[in-house]
Amino acid sequence: MTSLVVREQVSLESLHTFASLGQAQKLVELTAVDQLEQITAQWAAWPQPIWVLGSGSNIVFAGDFPGTLILNLLKGRDCLSENTTQNTAIWRVSAGECWHDWVAASVQAGWSGLENLALIPGTVGAAPIQNIGAYGVELAEACVGVTAWHMPSGQMRYFDRAACAFSYRDSFFKQPDERHQWVIVSVDFQLSRTFQPKLHYPALHDYPEPLTDAKSVFDAVCQIRQSKLPDPAVLPNAGSFFKNPIVEKAFAAQLHQVLPELPVYSINTAQASPDGVETGPVEPVKLSAAFLIEQAGLKGLNWHEVGVYAQHALVLVRHQPGPGRAVLDLAHHIQEVVAARFGVNLAPEPEIWPLQP
Ligand code: FAD
Ligand code: NAP
Repeated sequence: MTSLVVREQVSLESLHTFASLGQAQKLVELTAVDQLEQITAQWAAWPQPIWVLGSGSNIVFAGDFPGTLILNLLKGRDCLSENTTQNTAIWRVSAGECWHDWVAASVQAGWSGLENLALIPGTVGAAPIQNIGAYGVELAEACVGVTAWHMPSGQMRYFDRAACAFSYRDSFFKQPDERHQWVIVSVDFQLSRTFQPKLHYPALHDYPEPLTDAKSVFDAVCQIRQSKLPDPAVLPNAGSFFKNPIVEKAFAAQLHQVLPELPVYSINTAQASPDGVETGPVEPVKLSAAFLIEQAGLKGLNWHEVGVYAQHALVLVRHQPGPGRAVLDLAHHIQEVVAARFGVNLAPEPEIWPLQP
């Protein structure tokens, strides 16, 4: 058994893509599955809280972290089985693998299923936490299981897709009683040799070149994302800072009177309705948070050393080095203005330390 590498008083700046200044009390590097027992043995003794960390692309530190970060560095990709009749295979990928590298490798090897999720920052192990999604595809569609270690009790458990309880940017692992209790160790994917295009998002539907296989969709998604989103290595950010609000259809209809251009989407079919509100039998609907922030006049707002990205209202960016407090103040300001103007509560998407009420 290899010993865990443990470091004290570690700078947070390079551990998360929003790059706020600050320190973590303790950082533990998890590089092998047989080290999980040591985490459980130390669980009560280490500084609290204890959080697992991937690439830090969905975590914002708005102050020093007084607890323990477990940096997931577990590596490995294995094909568990291949069904040559159905042209499918099950792959098991370790949690510390880079998400985009795994997507690129799968597409390169002729597998389809993950191409719409290209270029999402982060690790494979974090992907189930919020059921990552982009361009009309969610992780839940390809993920058939998750293996996770329960840190307090030291139990390894296999979660099939149903047990993961995936929903829109949510899963079992984000529920209040489960949050920060599990280390995701590996994720199982079912991929197909047969290309099943999901091209209903406007950016892909209207793409100027033919999208006829997984590789062309992968390339298109990379190109679109690079043209729209700031690279965290150049302009620190945490992607979408707020979730798209899910509201009752009747409320969306009222809002639509005030904001006729407001995009309203049904949740399950992932299709926009022609008039924006007639979405069929599904009652809850999804609004565009970016649209609301832009309509509130906040796009491009600068706030001390942070701001709202001028090209994308949902992305908060860091213009200058500094502690994390400013982004929290900016986020609160956006929430207050949008709530006052439109009666919509925006919930942050990233994990924020200190935990928000
Ligand atoms: P971290 O930020 O390190 O952690 C996120 C959460 O997961 C934390 O609560 C952490 O404790 C927990 N966690 C991480 N690893 C594990 C593990 N192994 N076991 C248990 N818990 C764990 N998200 C989307 O859904 N779609 C997008 O299109 C998208 N685009 C983005 C674009 C940019 C520019 C950025 C910066 C972010 C984007 N995101 C997107 C958000 C982010 O990339 C994803 O949520 C990603 O899955 C986070 O991975 P990570 O390794 O960085 O997780
Ligand atoms: P976009 O394509 O301009 O769309 C704007 C918003 O409308 C998105 O939030 C998207 O919802 C929604 N949308 C568009 N077409 C839709 C359809 N046919 N059915 C249902 N919803 C639809 O968005 P973007 O900002 O450029 O991002 C593109 C994709 O990458 C989106 O899926 C987005 O979620 C993802 N992304 C996520 C993050 C993050 O940090 N979470 C960051 C960057 C990009 P959804 O967001 O629900 O898809």
